[in-house]
Amino acid sequence: MSILSEPHFHNEDAAFERLEAIVWPSGPVCPKCGNCEQSRITRVSGATARIGLRRCLECKKQFTVKVGTVFESAHVPLHKWFQAAHLLASSKKGISAHQLHRTLQVTYKTAWFMAHRLREAMRAGELSPMGGTGGIVEVDETFIGREPGKERKRAYHHKMKVLALVDRATGQARSMVVDNLRPATIAPILRENMMTEARLATDEAGHYLHIGREFAAHGVVRHGREEYVIGEVHTNTIEGYFSIFKRGMKGVYQHCAKKHLHRYLAEFDFRYNHRSALGVDDINRGSNAMAGIVGKRLKYRDSLAGAA
Ligand SMILES: [Zn+2]
Repeated sequence: MSILSEPHFHNEDAAFERLEAIVWPSGPVCPKCGNCEQSRITRVSGATARIGLRRCLECKKQFTVKVGTVFESAHVPLHKWFQAAHLLASSKKGISAHQLHRTLQVTYKTAWFMAHRLREAMRAGELSPMGGTGGIVEVDETFIGREPGKERKRAYHHKMKVLALVDRATGQARSMVVDNLRPATIAPILRENMMTEARLATDEAGHYLHIGREFAAHGVVRHGREEYVIGEVHTNTIEGYFSIFKRGMKGVYQHCAKKHLHRYLAEFDFRYNHRSALGVDDINRGSNAMAGIVGKRLKYRDSLAGAA
């Protein structure tokens, strides 16, 4: 049986119930006055009432779980949002706006918009530094696409640069777009994202040498000398992460503007950090993305304005 046979992927009433369970785990909350006294909120029923309509007896306003969220303004049925979130969260390499457009039977523009909203929802909020209790954090960089305005040259000068960290103990990845790989660019990122008691594992790239001294240890594998594993020191975990990212970017998202790259990184980080090996199944991964959409509703309007 396909996972997509669950009712909330097809039935709007079921989709509302599902979203309510995510947004209101302790019952409805009035978005106007904040009333959450369940005896002071009633369900509005009747043939003409919208699905999920509630009435607050404190401020007399009516609302649904969609009020104030992207789901209210986008005019896409909620069950299609659930499908989109599920598809994006469960496709290992991602899913193109074109594929979403065909599968969900919404316009391409709507599909593009939904995908970017979901990516934004997948972006992690405040994150604590990695490598607590002396764990190993692998750090590496990769190159992709084309840096805007840069002439094509040898090596990686003209490509967009991505820096990523993987905490080997928790299996969590964190990646970001960087403008260059100068030590002055890399050092503050590592300071912000790693505990000083962490042990750093990198290849021999010069930009890690100086900052490496600020951590409990810095193990280096010299790929140029075909050294790949020295005891615990290797960067195989992060290279595995990059290979999923690159396969997805090449296979699914061929053209990605630099201004959107961080959103794709958020999507790949999200799937990696909620992967089955860490005990998250496909359905929960999709629900997590939907929960993120609600949590980020206010910031979103600004961040995407004019981006299309
Ligand atoms: Zn109220």
